[in-house]
Amino acid sequence: MNRVRLIIFNAALGPLDYRVPEGMDVGPGSVVIAPLGPRQIVGIVWDEGRLPGDTVPDARLRPILGVLPVPPLKPELRRLIEWTADYYCASLASVARMVLSSGGALKGPATMTEYRLSGGMPERMTPKRELAIAALEGEQATMRELADISGVSEGVLRGLVNQGVLEPVVVDCDRPYEKARADFDQPDLSAEQGEVAGRLVQAMRDGGFAPFLLDGVTGSGKTETYFEAIAEALRNNRQTLVLLPEIALTEAFLRRFENRFGAAPIVWHSSLKSTERRRAWRAIASGEAQVVVGARSALFLPYARLGLIVVDEAHEISFKQDDGVRYNARDVAVMRARFEKIPAILASATPALESLQMAESGIYERLVLPSRFGGASLPHIETVNLTEEPPEKGRWLAPRLARELFARLERKEQSLLFLNRRGYAPLTLCRHCGYRFQCPNCSAWLVEHRLSHRLACHHCGHETATPDRCPECGEPDCLVACGPGVERIADEVAEIMPEARVAVATSDTLNSPEKAAAFVAMAEAGEIDVIVGTQLVTKGFHFPELTLVGVVDADLGLEGGDLRAAERTYQQVAQVAGRAGRGAKPGEVLIQTRHPDAAVIAALAAGDRDAFYAAETEARRHAGAPPFGRWGAIIVSSEDEPEAREAANRIGAIRPNLPDVQILGPAPAPMALLRGRYRYRLLLNARRSAELQNVIRDWLGALSFPQGVRVSVDIDPYSF
Ligand code: ADP
Ligand code: ZN
Repeated sequence: MNRVRLIIFNAALGPLDYRVPEGMDVGPGSVVIAPLGPRQIVGIVWDEGRLPGDTVPDARLRPILGVLPVPPLKPELRRLIEWTADYYCASLASVARMVLSSGGALKGPATMTEYRLSGGMPERMTPKRELAIAALEGEQATMRELADISGVSEGVLRGLVNQGVLEPVVVDCDRPYEKARADFDQPDLSAEQGEVAGRLVQAMRDGGFAPFLLDGVTGSGKTETYFEAIAEALRNNRQTLVLLPEIALTEAFLRRFENRFGAAPIVWHSSLKSTERRRAWRAIASGEAQVVVGARSALFLPYARLGLIVVDEAHEISFKQDDGVRYNARDVAVMRARFEKIPAILASATPALESLQMAESGIYERLVLPSRFGGASLPHIETVNLTEEPPEKGRWLAPRLARELFARLERKEQSLLFLNRRGYAPLTLCRHCGYRFQCPNCSAWLVEHRLSHRLACHHCGHETATPDRCPECGEPDCLVACGPGVERIADEVAEIMPEARVAVATSDTLNSPEKAAAFVAMAEAGEIDVIVGTQLVTKGFHFPELTLVGVVDADLGLEGGDLRAAERTYQQVAQVAGRAGRGAKPGEVLIQTRHPDAAVIAALAAGDRDAFYAAETEARRHAGAPPFGRWGAIIVSSEDEPEAREAANRIGAIRPNLPDVQILGPAPAPMALLRGRYRYRLLLNARRSAELQNVIRDWLGALSFPQGVRVSVDIDPYSF
């Protein structure tokens, strides 16, 4: 008799053994349905036969009920799941669940029904029906999605279907995508681009795992060169995955891709409609999908014929997932390439120190594009010392920066002001009693958003309307905004240059692909004079008329105890500086700072990347920080403060005593309250040689905690 071990998508349960009924075709990677108590669950067959230590007699095993009609997970993907679970100290089930998270795609048939307004009206109008009809103008989606969009129950919507107001549309999730063509519009590469592209294509032809660090200044044509590797994949009918850090970047990328290959790639991200998701999933699993562009979750899809992985802007912190399975998509991407035996390309103008170190030690092959394409020069960078040239009272732009903005406006060139803070002001307080608006769920101030008249928490999404009097002392007109956000900077620009056309570009204002596309089109058409934006506008965009970049507060990111603060500041400022002077006209960058002598600021002003990396390398070596040592964190949280503290103390009390791992804490985490949960943290700093994961597993393995306590492990954490 045949027995198998299943991974089931319930993280609280380990793998379970089942019996395979006679004649059922089941093997490793098969996705099956099995009984669990009175329920039926979906699981993945992980092992076959009797495993060591397995004592349950065959007769006691329950039978598998059926096999789902999806291709079995390939061994490469199963290895990736195992590696990810092992490396990030997560359960196999939680990783497997990410892989099959699009359950609808798995189980569902090839067609789905969506609904849209037919133009007809119901016999009897009710307030809810009226609401639904108004909200669903121009929408077409499944019943459940329409209910979400309109805020009206599915019952009400079904009523509208019966009345013929909503009409069904059958969507075929197997209809083919337009084909991309390797030779649609091939560019003439520069000599140095040609060399890099040639090396990438060669690696594709050689086959096998080949990790590359594509290290090229902004505007050097990194995208253009890795497109040649994609072209090679297309010629060989192999699939490519391109990971991008930001959904707002996708639009610009899609257009470029289409210009080069004659068809759009397949997009994968969390806000796809379920029909789009199912169609994409099926095409990916069947091998039909040629190129997939996605956020980090695209990494775990069951590609049938993956031939290449590209991680663009590979240094970006958004590749790090900070809840659930806390993985870094950049690193998992390289592992996936390894298991699939294919090339991986990490592209960046400002690689993470870890990536450079991998190149240095010969594990990654470094390919360099040292100059901008077409002879465009790198921008001229200067610092504005805010202690010597302060802005006027109540303003944030120093006179020199204001003058340069004027000059651009007169010359009809574009400017970009960068401040990594959404909203109007990061703190609002009462002038009368000193009351400060704080999030009830988080240790964070509420950020004023003047455009939407809200006070919002940037951690949990809590929002309230901005009141007109202090909730504490009741005084009217007493609230003061402290510090700047992008909206406030935009106001200031409008004040000093009333004729300028100013656009705020943040995840608030560009929160859909359509809005992002409209913004890009306006900026390209020269309909915006000054862009005021957050990190969202630091990368990917190519606006030829943009000749001035002002960094409003370069010191912002250096505050706080973040391990990678200096690196991140360097990356952000270098990236945003890279937006200036990409066309024929030279670019200029002004960096406002109170610390022009800080190593990172001085290196930025001197345009000396090597100097920055050298200083940062020394600092990291000294601190035993990555890549010279390793970090890990154990985060204990509960809605009940004493319960969280108690659990953290229990963990702390049995800490292992090891020569190569230093353990700090427990202490309240930097965000001591987050989304209503109190958080404590233990930090581990290990030598490279230490088996950090095993230490953590052994340590936590024996403990169990009350229901409300969550213990999560963060390997290679980003934020402290
Ligand atoms: P990076 O990804 O390094 O920032 P891009 O690939 O975005 O650089 O290139 C910058 C700009 O130069 C883009 O507008 C791109 O279309 C253009 N460009 C780069 N290389 C070429 C080329 N060989 N032929 C034509 N245009 C190019
Ligand atoms: Zn909050």
